Order: sequence, then C-alpha cells, then structure tokens
Amino acid sequence: MSRLEIPTKGRSELVIEGLYRDLERRIEASPPGLCPVSVTKAFLELCRVQTCGKCVPCRIGLVQLTNLIGDVLEGRATMGTLKLLEETALSIMDSADCAIGYEAANMVYKSLKGCRDDYEQHIIDGRCSCTYSQPVPCVALCPAAVDIPGYIALVREGRYEDAIRLIRKDNPFPTTCAFICEHPCEARCRRNMIDAAVNIRGLKRVAVDRAGYVAPPACARETGKKVAVVGGGPGGLTAAYYLRLMGHAVTVYEMLPKLGGMLRYGIPNYRLPKDRLDDDIQAILDTGVEVKHGMRIGTDITIQQLREQYDAVLITIGASTSKKLGLEHEDNEGVMSAVKFLRDVAHGTAPDLTGLDVAVIGGGNVAMDAVRTAKRLGASKVSTVYRRRLADMTALPAEIEAAAAEGIEMLTLKAPSAIEVDEKGALKGLWVTPQMISSIKDGRASVKPNGEADQFVPCSVIIAAIGQAIETDHFQQAGVPVARGVISASRFGNFSNIPGVFAGGDCATGPATVIRAIAAAKAIAANIDEYLGFHHEITCDVEIPEPEHRDNEPCGRVDLTEREACDRVRDFEAVENCMTECESCQEASRCLRCDHFGYGVFKGGRKKLW
Ligand SMILES: Cc1cc2nc3c(=O)[nH]c(=O)nc-3n(C[C@H](O)[C@H](O)[C@H](O)COP(=O)(O)OP(=O)(O)OC[C@H]3O[C@@H](n4cnc5c(N)ncnc54)[C@H](O)[C@@H]3O)c2cc1C
Ligand code: SF4
Ligand code: SF4
Repeated sequence: MSRLEIPTKGRSELVIEGLYRDLERRIEASPPGLCPVSVTKAFLELCRVQTCGKCVPCRIGLVQLTNLIGDVLEGRATMGTLKLLEETALSIMDSADCAIGYEAANMVYKSLKGCRDDYEQHIIDGRCSCTYSQPVPCVALCPAAVDIPGYIALVREGRYEDAIRLIRKDNPFPTTCAFICEHPCEARCRRNMIDAAVNIRGLKRVAVDRAGYVAPPACARETGKKVAVVGGGPGGLTAAYYLRLMGHAVTVYEMLPKLGGMLRYGIPNYRLPKDRLDDDIQAILDTGVEVKHGMRIGTDITIQQLREQYDAVLITIGASTSKKLGLEHEDNEGVMSAVKFLRDVAHGTAPDLTGLDVAVIGGGNVAMDAVRTAKRLGASKVSTVYRRRLADMTALPAEIEAAAAEGIEMLTLKAPSAIEVDEKGALKGLWVTPQMISSIKDGRASVKPNGEADQFVPCSVIIAAIGQAIETDHFQQAGVPVARGVISASRFGNFSNIPGVFAGGDCATGPATVIRAIAAAKAIAANIDEYLGFHHEITCDVEIPEPEHRDNEPCGRVDLTEREACDRVRDFEAVENCMTECESCQEASRCLRCDHFGYGVFKGGRKKLW
C-alpha cells in the first residue's frame, strides 16, 4: 500500500493557471479612463473568491462591501452609503485574520479616498462621466498623442513617407523616438489581451529607416510675430517647429555648438546615432527656424533683453547639471558626473579609460549609459554601485540586460560612504556600506545598513549618475518662479507674473523623457499662438487606410534584435537592428485598430488636428 501521493497538477488547475495569465494580460491592457467604481467592484469580487472563509470580517464583510458598491453603481446609494462603505472597509482592515481580508478592504478604502468624486458623481448624476472619454489606449498613453493605429496601418501598406507625415503632426522627432523613446504607449496596448503589446516603437523605426528624407509641411502665412526659444533640445525645437508652421518667426538660442540638447550631449551614439538625430533636426530647420549658437542666456544675453526684443519667450533649458554625492574628495581628479562624462564623449574629448577600473554610482538609465560608454572607451572593469537591488533599479530592464551582456559588474546593495585618495591626491577607490532591503516607503523598498563593515571598491575613475539639476539662478533673479529647484510654470506653461514668458520640458518637470518634453512643447506652442492672438491648427491630410475585419490569431511580438554584445562593445555604432519587411508586415498586422474596433460609437473618431 502506498503512503504518499506524488503531487501533480490536475487539468482544472492547469486551466485556471492559464486563466490567471489571461486575466493578468487583460488587466495590463486596461486602458485609462475606466470607471474606478466599476473597476473596484470587479476586483473586490475576485478577492471574495480568494477568501478561506474562516473569519467573519473577510467572509461576510467583503460581501457587504460588494453590495454597497453595487448600490452606488445601480443608483440606490446616498452619501450615507459612502460613510458606511468607509467604516466597513476600516473595520475589516482592523479585524480580518489575514492579508486576504485586510488587503481587499484596503483596496476599497484607497479607491474611495482617491476617487471620491467618481463615487459621488454616481450618487448625484446616476453615472460616471469618465467613461465618456475612454480613449484609444496607445494614443492616450503616448504623451504627445501620436496617431499610432494610423501610422501602423500606413507602415503595413508600405506608405512610409505618409507614416512620417502623420507622426510629425504630433511629434517632430520621429527618428529620435524610433530609437530611444521609452514607449509608454505600449504599456496598455489592447493586443495584450490576445498575446503581447504591438511593438509600436519598433514600427516607427521601420517607417523612419525606409522613408528617407520627408520635407516638412508648408508654413502658414507669416504673422509678423517673433518668438525666442531658449535651449535647442527636443523641447525647444518641438515648440520652434510648430510655431514656425503657424507662421511665427522663431529664433532658438543655444549655448552649445550643436542642437539636440541631451539627445546629442547625453544619449550615447550607440543608442541614438547622431546622423539620425540630424535627420529630425534638419526637417525642423527646413521650416525656417533661425538658430543662434554659443549664446548662453544669463551670460551673453539676459531673459529681460529677450523679452524686450521678442513678442514671446520660451524657456526650455533642460536639466543640464548634476547632483552632488556629498562626499569628501568628490571634486578630485578622476571623480566626475555622468552628465559631464557623457557630454565630453559627445564633444570628442572623452577621457582615456584604457585598462582602468571604473565605478559608476547609480541605477538609472543615465548610469547604464555611463557604464556602457566607459566599457566602449576601453575600461578593463566597469561596475555599477547601487544602494538597492537589481529589481529596484530605475533603468529600463532592457538597458540593464544590455549592460550585463556587455560585461558590466552590478554591485547592488552598496551605499557609497567615502572616496579614498592617496597622500598625493590620486584616487584610490570607493568605500561602500553594505545594505539590506527594508520597509516599503511610498511604494518603494527602502534600504538600511546590514551591519557588516564597509567594503572597498578599488577604482581609478568614479562617475556619479545620481540625478540631474537645473541651472535656475539667472531665471529666478529675472522673476521667473522657481520651486524646489524646478522652474514652476502653470499647467499651460505660462506664469501669472510675467506675461509672454513660457517654460516647459525637463526644466519645468525635472529630468523626464524626450516624449514628455515634446508633449509639453506642443501644448506650449499652441498656448503661445493663442497669446499672440491667433488660433492656428496643426493638421495632416494623409489618408488613413480603412480598418479590415481580420481573424486575430495569437501571434508572437517581433522584437528588435541587437548586434552581438562582444562585437558592439568595440564601437559606438548603433546597437539595435531594424525589422525586415516580412517582420514589419506581420507586426503591423497585429494592431487591432482600436481607433475603430472597441472604440464606441459616440466618441467622434480620431483627432485630426490640434
Ligand atoms: C544620459 C541621458 C540619457 C537619456 N536617455 C533617454 C532615453 O533613452 N529616452 C528618453 O526618452 N529620454 C532620455 N533622457 C532624457 C531626455 O534626454 C530629456 O528628458 C530631454 O532631452 C529633455 O528635453 P529638454 O528640451 O527639456 O532639455 P534638454 O534636452 O536638456 O535641452 C536643453 C537645451 O538647453 C540648452 N541650455 C541650457 N541652459 C541654457 C542657457 N542658459 N542658454 C542657452 N541654452 C541653454 C542646453 O545646452 C540644451 O541644448 C536621457 C537623458 C540623459 C541625460
Ligand atoms: S513617441 Fe514614444 S510614446 Fe509616442 S507613439 Fe512613439 S514610441 Fe510610443
Ligand atoms: S492594438 Fe493597435 S490600436 Fe490597439 S492599443 Fe495596440 S497599437 Fe494601439
């Protein structure tokens, strides 16, 4: 007689596992704009299924919560219902035996606190207004609202030039974004419900690689108005482009010898080849934007002088300096910031790192750029020194994987504590305090010393990639509001105390992303146009292919491949390969055309102008 059975998964268990995965993908594909009350009720019902039934608060309480939210959704609730809902949730949190009950009630409590207006609107108006504007998921999540289903359909038909024209309606940096956009648009792509998100950025790369030069559209009639843009990064150049299309005369003041901001002087060539960046910039300049190089506002000319000479002034100076480590000897030779290091490389004045050991402090994308660049400059050993775990790094997972493949050492859970130099002042290395993971604060695991003695990391170069700062002094002196080191413009990009002056991009948000700087500049261009007394509209007359009814069989996503790590670390040439025609056709066909299907009938179609 056997005593124990070897555990094997039954058929229904396997099916349920599959359903969990389907549900995870479905949640991932949830678009912004869903009714928070309905979403909370749906999640709560799932939680109810998980209860073990032992304790009353969970077994009975979660049913009560579901009924109360049901009352809100079905028009039976009063404001008193919300009070009862809150008290019931708090009481379950106080008394449930385990996390199943506590976390379910906490979810309801957080939803009620955070989305109270939506709950109240259901009670007052009998419905929630947020679902009126349920958008196309990818378009809603691209900060610049690029017409994604439109350009994907054009790529599918091989109409690459039209795809570029359509993208430029909302984003004049199609090539740059094809290479390095962090593609938030893919996060909730509805294709996740079937298999995986469409490779939206990859298809943009197909369009820019195959289109060749595409001239910008004609500018509107000259308005006679003059706008000065301070800073020639993606923010400044985007605003300059749209303001030119609207017929205003635009002059960009840039302190560095070339345009592009952090795209040229931060992001390394192997991720964004500079000749490809020039493709975007050339099309912008071809609209007739004037550029004054080597002009540092605050030194060569003041913001007040610009205000006198121009009808409007836009500040897009980015976050061009770096935060300090706060350690002794950080101004020593051999210790530098990642911003300076990457800028020197872009200027062609890179330090010679041949055979040296390099330690880069930080775990973000800038740190990954610094380590991979140091490796390409011949360093024998390159390490990232990071106080948290690999999983806590803010760099994109793809960047961390690429760095690891190129032989970068990841020293995690090590907090820099001191820089050691010898008696002649030469750098000897970095002391670090070993850390352990600790409580979650603001959704992020914090760290604390684990009690071991400090460790020594010998190195000849230390690069600090711990954040960027904004040079606000001159602007603050000129009366531009600054709060916590960031230029504090309104959500329209203007200031109540200085009419005609606007600000946007990294200098107004803190270090962010290219597409966020582009999106801000686009909105500000429209607001400057209004300020100058006009109401120009930006549009694009490209005809979008009609959507077809197709069977959407599950099909894998085509990812962009990369050059082999051992080959690519020897140069600064582009790492990513484009798709083949066969791959791009299959990938473009995976788009579900959410601009038509599943878009509702009262939504008014695509946004053809702004
Ligand atoms: C190393 C690195 C890697 C990055 N990688 C990515 C990435 O992969 N994907 C992504 O989306 N984002 C990335 N970013 C962020 C992105 O580059 C920025 O968010 C974006 O460039 C911000 O645009 P901006 O126009 O606001 O500022 P910037 O690009 O910083 O441009 C500001 C411009 O103003 C000029 N300027 C500054 N002060 C003055 C002055 N007083 N007078 C005249 N001109 C002045 C500067 O020289 C610069 O040209 C990265 C940033 C860095 C540093
Ligand atoms: S610009 Fe970026 S976020 Fe917008 S569609 Fe392209 S990849 Fe997506
Ligand atoms: S399936 Fe197409 S239209 Fe729908 S969200 Fe994804 S990329 Fe956008």
